[in-house]
Amino acid sequence: MANTQIAAAREGTVTEEMERVAKRENRDPEFVREQVAEGQAVIPANTNHDALDAMIIGRDFSTKVNANIGNSETTSDLETELEKLHSAVHYGADTVMDLGTGSDLDEIRETHLEHSPVPIGTVPLYEAVKQADSPAEITTDLLLEIIEKQAEQGVDYMTIHAGILAEHLPLTDGRKTGIVSRGGSIMASWMEENGEQNPLFQVYDEICEIFAEHDVTFSLGDSLRPGCLADACDEAQYAELDTLGELTRRAWEHDVQVMVEGPGHVPMHKVAENVERQQEVCDGAPFYVLGPLVTDIAPGYDHITSAIGAAMAAQAGAAMLCYVTPKEHLGLPDEEDVRDGLAAYRIAAHAGDVGAERPGARDWDDALSEARYAFDWREQFRLALDPDRARDSHDQTLPGDNYKEARFCSMCGVEFCSMRIDQDAREGDGDGMERLTEETNLENSPAAEVNLPPVGTHEGADIPGSEHDQAPAEPASDD
Ligand code: SF4
Repeated sequence: MANTQIAAAREGTVTEEMERVAKRENRDPEFVREQVAEGQAVIPANTNHDALDAMIIGRDFSTKVNANIGNSETTSDLETELEKLHSAVHYGADTVMDLGTGSDLDEIRETHLEHSPVPIGTVPLYEAVKQADSPAEITTDLLLEIIEKQAEQGVDYMTIHAGILAEHLPLTDGRKTGIVSRGGSIMASWMEENGEQNPLFQVYDEICEIFAEHDVTFSLGDSLRPGCLADACDEAQYAELDTLGELTRRAWEHDVQVMVEGPGHVPMHKVAENVERQQEVCDGAPFYVLGPLVTDIAPGYDHITSAIGAAMAAQAGAAMLCYVTPKEHLGLPDEEDVRDGLAAYRIAAHAGDVGAERPGARDWDDALSEARYAFDWREQFRLALDPDRARDSHDQTLPGDNYKEARFCSMCGVEFCSMRIDQDAREGDGDGMERLTEETNLENSPAAEVNLPPVGTHEGADIPGSEHDQAPAEPASDD
């Protein structure tokens, strides 16, 4: 029997999670219920994830950001993994995917779930690869066993690569970068080796039944996403998308929540087309995009190449953005990369929300601009997306306490500070140039929680093992 948010919503029930989400988004609980009932939004909330602070992913809500963490064969232990989770939440991740492929996967996953206020996603196929002697040896029984175990542990959403079919594989011939999704390449090699249809597709209804029991949300993997601009929007990508649309409807028949993953690498003039096509093919199921990177020429800066595409996708209707760090294509990200990647993606999500004219989304911008014009440096730092970064950048050249009231900074200097010159002109002029008198009050803003400072806060969250405070800290002194 379905035990899910969508089942409750379809019966007309506003759940505790819907109430919480409505508060965080500043929306009517009944609107939240309708959106979930119609599959236009998901609340990933496994019934076994007790530490969860419920959130919602959908095109008519604020844009969300996912961060990937996880160990590998060569790196990290439980303590390090908890620190990664804490960093991700601290810098503003709305969900976290644990993509661990190293040792102690169960212990790490269970500890994450014990403490995480944000939904945790996984790719169960990775654990199956670890357990089988080779990818070709993976069986449907093994896949179902791992999916059921992770569902019982409390995983909120799982990437399931069920959309890549044997008949899609020839469509990838001639691509510049072939199949770049990890799960997609594993499934393709399985089908080639065994000469059979995708095993995740074969047992899709059984997976739906497990998900319905524990309220696990599908994140339908885009195994054939383009890995370079030249492969964007090709026949292979769109053939798989059609299958993802069918799988979306099948999951809904089981009262299971669904979001659909998207590309990848897409030039700017095709980003909106990708979002619109997914929304049409998948009947409005939330679109969860990786980037997309809008150019392939900047390894080392792919948090920027992808944040450009992510902002455009968010404005066009993507519901969640999977962050990309500067280490993309180059290596395993460290904590500084996580910070840079999340900053880039929080900016993209917020810019998308402002561009889509979501209620109150611009209030944070206005409040910060007012503090800037008032030379209220402390308020400017407090309101900054990354307060520590803003303060450090200012204090590199003008560290003294007296400069926190200064009517200039070191960029233009006192003589050429345009805002000072402008203000002095307004003070001296009797008519024509008026000063702003109204101030933005963030306390009364209709904006969703994610469009208000500070980022990375959760009521009652408790993630041990990190030097960070849960909320960005105010420094003890100014010098
Ligand atoms: S000196 Fe230039 S950058 Fe600094 S506050 Fe004035 S106008 Fe802005």
